[in-house]
Amino acid sequence: MDIYFYNTLTKNKDKFDPINSEEVRIYSCGPTVYKDATIGNMRTNIFQDVLKRVLKYNGYNVKHAMNITDVGHLVSDSDEGEDKMLKSAREEHKTPLEIAEHYTKLFFEDLKSLNISTPEIVCKATEHIPEMLEYVEKLMENGYAYETSTAIYFDISKLDKYPILSNLDLENQKAGARVDIDSEKRNPADFALWIKAPENHLMKWDSPWGPSYPGWHIECSAMGQKYLGEQFDIHTGGIDLVPTHHENEIAQSKGKCGKIPAKYWIHGEYLLINGGKMSKSLGNVYLVKDIKEKGYDPIVYRLFSYSCHYRNKLNFTWEGIDAASKSLERLRNSYQLNLKGTDDLTNEDNERLARIEESFHKAINDDLNMPLAMSFVWEAARFEKKNIEVAKLLQKFDTILGIKIDELNDNLDEIPQFILDLVEQRKIARQNKDWAKSDELRDLINQKGYIVKDTKQGMEITQK
Ligand code: AMP
Ligand code: ZN
Repeated sequence: MDIYFYNTLTKNKDKFDPINSEEVRIYSCGPTVYKDATIGNMRTNIFQDVLKRVLKYNGYNVKHAMNITDVGHLVSDSDEGEDKMLKSAREEHKTPLEIAEHYTKLFFEDLKSLNISTPEIVCKATEHIPEMLEYVEKLMENGYAYETSTAIYFDISKLDKYPILSNLDLENQKAGARVDIDSEKRNPADFALWIKAPENHLMKWDSPWGPSYPGWHIECSAMGQKYLGEQFDIHTGGIDLVPTHHENEIAQSKGKCGKIPAKYWIHGEYLLINGGKMSKSLGNVYLVKDIKEKGYDPIVYRLFSYSCHYRNKLNFTWEGIDAASKSLERLRNSYQLNLKGTDDLTNEDNERLARIEESFHKAINDDLNMPLAMSFVWEAARFEKKNIEVAKLLQKFDTILGIKIDELNDNLDEIPQFILDLVEQRKIARQNKDWAKSDELRDLINQKGYIVKDTKQGMEITQK
């Protein structure tokens, strides 16, 4: 079945056609490890994980590389301000290395909590300085870079077209450009490839231009090329990376080898909190740990994120998390009931299950339409007959969902609502002395995996 992805580069939903059908190569911009990752960052990581799962569901092998930015990401995207790592190190009275190690560890713990697989390749910027230097030297050689007294800049006027990924308004940028940043820049939108380090700068390396450190954009270009080649299939990230970081990655690659580094550029939209931005000053920055501390299985957040398409803004609320928690419990209950189910399936039932499976497959292949895919998951979970084939189908769907559907709910003693409804109907049948109906309902409850006993205290329901 064909797969379609919305491609930021073509502004179209493009049919996926891999460069090499043996292996799909994906690069994702990873975290700058100077602070805790938020549930917003994790939304982007969940979308990337689903993307990989969809490719694997369709039979592809996937090679995924993600960088760890531990140097060179400045406070402002326009080459201004302090390095984020150094700022954190100063504020937390630690070395940049300690900061990087601490937040990298936490980042991978969060991925694990959300059942997000670790990329095949995880590469740290500080461990790839020679590759980055070589990249910049090549750009110099090709005439796309120039030196000023503070940095090595990329000259965007040398490109046939800039920007090509975003709608970056260069005229506006020119008018608003701050001339005091570096008056030696040739064009206001030129960006730093390599930055000369001031005397007391903590993270710096020897280079042909003296002690210095890399710019943020060159890191991804150099590492992407090293691990995935000059041109790979998919490049992902959050939507905020389009106008600067990804635009500049493309510029660098065109300057070095004349190629756009990826065929498909796929971007995830933002997570909002109560309709607005997450920000420290509003006190609404949430982490995976906050979800755990409220007593939820963090996987609930993963399921919650499927309520919205990855290209739309998703509004986080605790009510939403609570609803997702109940949904997770119902899906896991349904799986367990089907696992033990003994209802016979007719040809018609099997055909319906096959239709559900196909609809699910179509939905995920249509630019990862998870809200639509979830409607088919529910159709399977609510299938009237309980049978192991339904459980198998749910498990197959879980290779995309990643919600560990086969795990037991913590509160197994909690009886599902539909069983309670059957028990209530049986109570009424008994009050009406309709013993045949009462027995029929008892058998039905039994088939669904529960035992109902009549005791002096009333009815007692237990799970088989
Ligand atoms: P940052 O920590 O801001 O450097 O972001 C790291 C990654 O997470 C980038 O790809 C961002 O696009 C993404 N990101 C940051 N905040 C959010 C958010 N609220 N919702 C979704 N993705 C986000
Ligand atoms: Zn990047």
